[in-house]
Amino acid sequence: MAAEILDGKGISKQIQSETKTKVAQFVTQFGIKPVLAAVLVGDDPASHVYVRNKERACARVGIESQLHRMSSSSSTDDVLARVMQLNDDPIVNGILVQLPLPDQADARVVLDAIDPLKDVDAFHPHNVGLISQGRPRFLPCTPHGIVQMLKRYGIQTAGKQVCVIGRSDIVGKPMAMMLAQRDSELGPELANATVTLCHSRTTDLARTTVQADILIAAMGRPNFVTCEMIKPGAVVVDVGINRVGDRLVGDVDFDAAMTIASYVTPVPGGVGPLTVTMLLENTLMAAKLQRMESPSIRTSRIQPNA
Ligand code: NAD
Repeated sequence: MAAEILDGKGISKQIQSETKTKVAQFVTQFGIKPVLAAVLVGDDPASHVYVRNKERACARVGIESQLHRMSSSSSTDDVLARVMQLNDDPIVNGILVQLPLPDQADARVVLDAIDPLKDVDAFHPHNVGLISQGRPRFLPCTPHGIVQMLKRYGIQTAGKQVCVIGRSDIVGKPMAMMLAQRDSELGPELANATVTLCHSRTTDLARTTVQADILIAAMGRPNFVTCEMIKPGAVVVDVGINRVGDRLVGDVDFDAAMTIASYVTPVPGGVGPLTVTMLLENTLMAAKLQRMESPSIRTSRIQPNA
Protein backbone atom coordinates (compact mmCIF):
# COMPACT_ATOMS: atom_id res chain seq x y z
CA MET A 1 0.00 0.00 0.00
CA ALA A 2 1.29 3.46 -0.85
CA ALA A 3 2.45 5.70 1.98
CA GLU A 4 0.40 8.66 3.16
CA ILE A 5 1.74 12.07 2.19
CA LEU A 6 2.48 14.41 5.08
CA ASP A 7 0.92 17.62 3.82
CA GLY A 8 3.21 20.35 5.15
CA LYS A 9 1.44 22.99 3.12
CA GLY A 10 -1.94 22.14 4.62
CA ILE A 11 -0.57 21.95 8.16
CA SER A 12 1.13 25.32 7.60
CA LYS A 13 -2.15 26.92 6.63
CA GLN A 14 -3.75 25.52 9.76
CA ILE A 15 -0.94 26.81 12.03
CA GLN A 16 -0.88 30.20 10.30
CA SER A 17 -4.57 30.62 10.90
CA GLU A 18 -3.95 29.90 14.62
CA THR A 19 -1.03 32.35 14.61
CA LYS A 20 -3.22 35.02 13.01
CA THR A 21 -5.71 34.71 15.85
CA LYS A 22 -2.92 34.94 18.46
CA VAL A 23 -1.39 37.97 16.70
CA ALA A 24 -4.79 39.71 16.70
CA GLN A 25 -5.07 39.05 20.46
CA PHE A 26 -1.58 40.52 20.94
CA VAL A 27 -2.52 43.64 18.95
CA THR A 28 -5.69 44.08 21.01
CA GLN A 29 -3.75 43.71 24.26
CA PHE A 30 -0.75 45.90 23.47
CA GLY A 31 -1.94 48.17 20.65
CA ILE A 32 1.05 47.35 18.42
CA LYS A 33 1.90 44.73 15.83
CA PRO A 34 4.82 42.30 16.23
CA VAL A 35 7.65 43.35 13.90
CA LEU A 36 10.12 41.10 12.08
CA ALA A 37 13.22 42.69 10.53
CA ALA A 38 14.97 40.75 7.74
CA VAL A 39 18.53 41.63 6.75
CA LEU A 40 19.24 40.67 3.15
CA VAL A 41 22.81 41.08 1.98
CA GLY A 42 23.69 40.80 -1.70
CA ASP A 43 21.89 39.51 -4.77
CA ASP A 44 21.50 35.74 -4.25
CA PRO A 45 18.24 35.00 -6.15
CA ALA A 46 17.21 32.14 -3.84
CA SER A 47 17.68 34.39 -0.78
CA HIS A 48 15.48 37.04 -2.37
CA VAL A 49 12.75 34.44 -2.94
CA TYR A 50 13.01 33.16 0.65
CA VAL A 51 12.80 36.67 2.10
CA ARG A 52 9.83 37.56 -0.12
CA ASN A 53 8.02 34.40 1.05
CA LYS A 54 8.67 35.36 4.66
CA GLU A 55 7.34 38.90 4.06
CA ARG A 56 4.16 37.52 2.48
CA ALA A 57 3.66 35.06 5.32
CA CYS A 58 4.07 37.88 7.87
CA ALA A 59 1.42 39.92 6.06
CA ARG A 60 -0.97 36.95 6.09
CA VAL A 61 -0.96 36.70 9.88
CA GLY A 62 -0.75 40.42 10.71
CA ILE A 63 2.95 40.65 11.55
CA GLU A 64 4.74 43.72 10.22
CA SER A 65 7.93 43.02 8.29
CA GLN A 66 10.89 45.26 7.56
CA LEU A 67 13.38 44.51 4.81
CA HIS A 68 16.92 45.80 5.29
CA ARG A 69 18.76 45.33 2.01
CA MET A 70 22.52 45.68 1.98
CA SER A 71 24.98 45.63 -0.88
CA SER A 72 26.86 42.46 -1.81
CA SER A 73 30.13 44.22 -0.86
CA SER A 74 29.04 44.66 2.79
CA SER A 75 31.71 43.71 5.32
CA THR A 76 31.21 41.89 8.62
CA ASP A 77 31.33 45.29 10.35
CA ASP A 78 28.71 46.73 8.01
CA VAL A 79 26.28 43.91 8.75
CA LEU A 80 27.14 44.00 12.45
CA ALA A 81 26.30 47.71 12.56
CA ARG A 82 22.88 47.01 11.06
CA VAL A 83 22.22 44.18 13.52
CA MET A 84 23.20 46.41 16.47
CA GLN A 85 20.85 49.10 15.22
CA LEU A 86 18.01 46.56 15.06
CA ASN A 87 18.93 45.18 18.50
CA ASP A 88 18.49 48.70 19.91
CA ASP A 89 15.28 49.46 18.06
CA PRO A 90 12.39 48.91 20.51
CA ILE A 91 9.94 48.57 17.61
CA VAL A 92 11.73 45.48 16.25
CA ASN A 93 10.86 42.17 17.93
CA GLY A 94 12.56 39.62 15.70
CA ILE A 95 15.71 39.80 13.59
CA LEU A 96 16.65 37.37 10.87
CA VAL A 97 19.78 37.55 8.80
CA GLN A 98 19.17 35.67 5.56
CA LEU A 99 21.94 33.16 4.88
CA PRO A 100 24.24 32.68 3.09
CA LEU A 101 26.12 35.96 3.54
CA PRO A 102 28.71 36.96 0.92
CA ASP A 103 32.14 35.41 1.59
CA GLN A 104 33.70 38.53 3.11
CA ALA A 105 31.00 38.78 5.81
CA ASP A 106 31.45 36.36 8.70
CA ALA A 107 28.04 34.81 9.36
CA ARG A 108 29.08 33.36 12.75
CA VAL A 109 30.13 36.79 14.06
CA VAL A 110 26.95 38.41 12.75
CA LEU A 111 24.58 35.75 14.15
CA ASP A 112 26.30 35.84 17.54
CA ALA A 113 25.61 39.60 17.71
CA ILE A 114 21.82 39.27 17.46
CA ASP A 115 20.08 40.00 20.76
CA PRO A 116 19.09 36.50 22.03
CA LEU A 117 15.60 37.84 22.80
CA LYS A 118 15.19 38.82 19.12
CA ASP A 119 16.88 35.68 17.74
CA VAL A 120 13.84 34.20 16.01
CA ASP A 121 15.94 31.69 14.05
CA ALA A 122 17.32 30.35 17.39
CA PHE A 123 20.91 30.33 16.12
CA HIS A 124 22.48 32.32 18.99
CA PRO A 125 24.68 30.17 21.29
CA HIS A 126 22.54 31.26 24.26
CA ASN A 127 19.40 29.92 22.62
CA VAL A 128 21.16 26.77 21.39
CA GLY A 129 22.33 26.17 24.98
CA LEU A 130 18.78 26.52 26.28
CA ILE A 131 17.56 24.00 23.70
CA SER A 132 20.26 21.54 24.69
CA GLN A 133 19.18 21.86 28.33
CA GLY A 134 15.56 21.17 27.42
CA ARG A 135 14.26 24.66 28.29
CA PRO A 136 14.03 26.41 24.94
CA ARG A 137 13.21 30.08 24.52
CA PHE A 138 12.83 29.77 20.74
CA LEU A 139 12.90 26.54 18.77
CA PRO A 140 14.70 26.55 15.41
CA CYS A 141 12.11 26.88 12.69
CA THR A 142 12.71 23.76 10.57
CA PRO A 143 12.97 21.20 13.42
CA HIS A 144 10.04 22.89 15.18
CA GLY A 145 7.96 22.67 12.00
CA ILE A 146 8.77 18.97 11.69
CA VAL A 147 7.67 18.26 15.26
CA GLN A 148 4.45 20.23 14.70
CA MET A 149 3.74 18.17 11.60
CA LEU A 150 4.36 14.87 13.41
CA LYS A 151 2.06 15.97 16.23
CA ARG A 152 -0.76 16.97 13.92
CA TYR A 153 -0.60 13.59 12.16
CA GLY A 154 -0.64 11.79 15.51
CA ILE A 155 2.88 10.44 15.02
CA GLN A 156 4.70 10.03 18.33
CA THR A 157 8.47 9.92 18.74
CA ALA A 158 8.65 8.57 22.31
CA GLY A 159 10.34 5.19 22.41
CA LYS A 160 11.03 5.25 18.65
CA GLN A 161 14.32 4.84 16.83
CA VAL A 162 14.95 8.10 14.99
CA CYS A 163 17.73 8.57 12.47
CA VAL A 164 18.68 12.12 11.45
CA ILE A 165 20.99 12.40 8.43
CA GLY A 166 22.93 15.69 8.48
CA ARG A 167 24.52 17.50 11.42
CA SER A 168 24.02 21.15 10.46
CA ASP A 169 23.47 23.74 13.19
CA ILE A 170 20.25 24.75 11.45
CA VAL A 171 18.49 21.40 11.08
CA GLY A 172 20.27 18.15 11.97
CA LYS A 173 21.85 18.94 15.33
CA PRO A 174 18.89 20.80 16.89
CA MET A 175 16.49 18.18 15.51
CA ALA A 176 18.46 15.40 17.19
CA MET A 177 18.72 17.37 20.44
CA MET A 178 15.01 18.13 20.56
CA LEU A 179 13.82 14.59 19.93
CA ALA A 180 16.21 13.10 22.48
CA GLN A 181 14.93 15.35 25.30
CA ARG A 182 12.84 14.05 28.13
CA ASP A 183 10.03 16.48 27.35
CA SER A 184 9.11 18.98 24.67
CA GLU A 185 6.96 22.05 24.14
CA LEU A 186 4.41 19.68 22.61
CA GLY A 187 4.58 17.03 25.31
CA PRO A 188 6.73 14.00 26.17
CA GLU A 189 5.25 11.96 23.32
CA LEU A 190 7.03 14.31 20.89
CA ALA A 191 10.39 13.75 22.64
CA ASN A 192 11.95 10.68 24.29
CA ALA A 193 13.26 9.18 21.04
CA THR A 194 16.45 7.17 20.70
CA VAL A 195 18.26 9.31 18.17
CA THR A 196 21.15 8.45 15.86
CA LEU A 197 22.76 11.44 14.17
CA CYS A 198 24.46 10.49 10.90
CA HIS A 199 26.73 12.62 8.75
CA SER A 200 29.16 12.55 5.85
CA ARG A 201 31.67 10.41 7.80
CA THR A 202 29.14 7.81 8.92
CA THR A 203 30.19 4.39 7.70
CA ASP A 204 27.56 2.10 6.23
CA LEU A 205 24.81 4.72 6.46
CA ALA A 206 22.11 2.35 5.17
CA ARG A 207 22.69 -0.08 8.06
CA THR A 208 21.62 2.68 10.46
CA THR A 209 18.87 4.29 8.41
CA VAL A 210 17.10 0.99 7.76
CA GLN A 211 16.55 0.56 11.51
CA ALA A 212 14.82 3.90 11.92
CA ASP A 213 11.12 4.16 12.70
CA ILE A 214 11.42 7.83 11.77
CA LEU A 215 14.01 8.88 9.20
CA ILE A 216 14.80 12.57 8.79
CA ALA A 217 17.03 13.47 5.82
CA ALA A 218 18.72 16.90 5.88
CA MET A 219 21.81 16.51 3.74
CA GLY A 220 21.36 18.43 0.49
CA ARG A 221 21.94 15.39 -1.78
CA PRO A 222 19.21 14.95 -4.41
CA ASN A 223 17.30 11.64 -4.21
CA PHE A 224 20.05 10.13 -2.04
CA VAL A 225 17.82 8.07 0.26
CA THR A 226 16.64 5.01 -1.65
CA CYS A 227 14.21 2.22 -0.92
CA GLU A 228 16.86 -0.09 0.62
CA MET A 229 17.69 2.59 3.20
CA ILE A 230 14.13 2.78 4.54
CA LYS A 231 12.57 0.44 7.11
CA PRO A 232 9.18 -0.85 5.92
CA GLY A 233 6.48 1.30 7.53
CA ALA A 234 8.87 4.07 8.55
CA VAL A 235 7.95 7.76 8.66
CA VAL A 236 10.20 9.60 6.20
CA VAL A 237 10.75 13.33 6.58
CA ASP A 238 12.60 14.94 3.69
CA VAL A 239 14.15 18.29 4.57
CA GLY A 240 16.35 18.58 1.48
CA ILE A 241 15.68 21.17 -1.18
CA ASN A 242 17.82 20.56 -4.25
CA ARG A 243 17.52 22.08 -7.70
CA VAL A 244 17.89 19.46 -10.42
CA GLY A 245 17.43 21.08 -13.82
CA ASP A 246 14.24 23.08 -13.49
CA ARG A 247 12.82 20.89 -10.71
CA LEU A 248 13.10 21.00 -6.92
CA VAL A 249 13.73 17.59 -5.38
CA GLY A 250 14.42 16.39 -1.88
CA ASP A 251 17.13 14.17 -0.40
CA VAL A 252 14.77 11.20 -0.62
CA ASP A 253 13.76 9.28 -3.73
CA PHE A 254 10.10 10.17 -3.25
CA ASP A 255 8.55 7.53 -5.54
CA ALA A 256 10.61 4.76 -3.94
CA ALA A 257 9.81 5.96 -0.42
CA MET A 258 6.09 5.97 -1.23
CA THR A 259 6.23 2.23 -1.91
CA ILE A 260 7.75 1.25 1.45
CA ALA A 261 7.17 3.97 4.08
CA SER A 262 3.99 4.69 6.05
CA TYR A 263 4.28 8.48 5.73
CA VAL A 264 6.45 10.65 3.46
CA THR A 265 6.86 14.42 3.13
CA PRO A 266 6.86 15.74 -0.45
CA VAL A 267 9.31 18.30 -1.84
CA PRO A 268 8.09 20.94 -2.39
CA GLY A 269 5.08 21.25 -0.08
CA GLY A 270 6.46 19.32 2.89
CA VAL A 271 8.88 20.75 5.43
CA GLY A 272 9.56 24.03 3.57
CA PRO A 273 6.25 25.81 4.26
CA LEU A 274 6.45 24.81 7.94
CA THR A 275 9.84 26.48 8.33
CA VAL A 276 8.38 29.86 7.36
CA THR A 277 5.33 29.28 9.53
CA MET A 278 7.37 28.59 12.66
CA LEU A 279 9.31 31.82 12.05
CA LEU A 280 6.00 33.66 12.46
CA GLU A 281 5.32 31.84 15.73
CA ASN A 282 8.81 32.75 16.98
CA THR A 283 8.29 36.40 16.07
CA LEU A 284 5.07 36.48 18.07
CA MET A 285 6.86 34.76 20.95
CA ALA A 286 9.66 37.36 20.77
CA ALA A 287 7.12 40.19 20.84
CA LYS A 288 5.48 38.66 23.91
CA LEU A 289 8.81 38.16 25.69
CA GLN A 290 9.74 41.77 25.04
CA ARG A 291 6.46 43.00 26.49
CA MET A 292 7.03 41.15 29.72
CA GLU A 293 8.32 43.38 32.49
CA SER A 294 11.18 41.05 33.22
CA PRO A 295 11.83 39.08 30.04
CA SER A 296 13.60 36.35 31.91
CA ILE A 297 14.24 33.04 30.23
CA ARG A 298 11.67 30.36 30.81
CA THR A 299 13.19 27.98 33.29
CA SER A 300 10.12 26.21 34.56
CA ARG A 301 10.49 23.28 32.19
CA ILE A 302 14.01 22.27 33.19
CA GLN A 303 14.16 18.75 34.47
CA PRO A 304 16.72 16.05 34.95
CA ASN A 305 17.47 14.19 31.75
CA ALA A 306 16.87 10.81 33.26
P1 NAD B 1 24.31 21.50 5.40
O1 NAD B 1 24.35 21.70 3.93
O2 NAD B 1 24.85 22.54 6.30
O3 NAD B 1 25.00 20.13 5.78
C1 NAD B 1 24.68 18.92 5.16
C2 NAD B 1 24.85 17.80 6.16
O4 NAD B 1 24.62 16.58 5.46
C3 NAD B 1 26.25 17.73 6.75
O5 NAD B 1 26.14 17.63 8.15
C4 NAD B 1 26.86 16.47 6.17
O6 NAD B 1 27.66 15.77 7.11
C5 NAD B 1 25.63 15.66 5.78
N1 NAD B 1 25.91 14.85 4.58
C6 NAD B 1 26.28 15.30 3.36
N2 NAD B 1 26.49 14.26 2.54
C7 NAD B 1 26.26 13.15 3.25
C8 NAD B 1 26.31 11.76 2.96
N3 NAD B 1 26.65 11.33 1.75
N4 NAD B 1 26.01 10.90 3.93
C9 NAD B 1 25.66 11.32 5.16
N5 NAD B 1 25.58 12.62 5.50
C10 NAD B 1 25.89 13.52 4.56
O7 NAD B 1 22.80 21.12 5.82
P2 NAD B 1 21.49 21.97 5.97
O8 NAD B 1 21.73 23.43 5.96
O9 NAD B 1 20.80 21.32 7.11
O10 NAD B 1 20.70 21.65 4.61
C11 NAD B 1 20.44 20.33 4.22
C12 NAD B 1 19.36 20.35 3.15
O11 NAD B 1 18.15 20.81 3.70
C13 NAD B 1 19.66 21.28 1.96
O12 NAD B 1 19.11 20.70 0.80
C14 NAD B 1 18.90 22.53 2.32
O13 NAD B 1 18.53 23.28 1.18
C15 NAD B 1 17.68 21.95 2.99
N6 NAD B 1 17.01 22.82 3.95
C16 NAD B 1 15.66 22.86 3.86
C17 NAD B 1 14.95 23.59 4.76
C18 NAD B 1 13.47 23.58 4.67
O14 NAD B 1 12.82 24.45 5.20
N7 NAD B 1 12.88 22.56 4.04
C19 NAD B 1 15.60 24.31 5.78
C20 NAD B 1 16.99 24.23 5.87
C21 NAD B 1 17.68 23.46 4.94
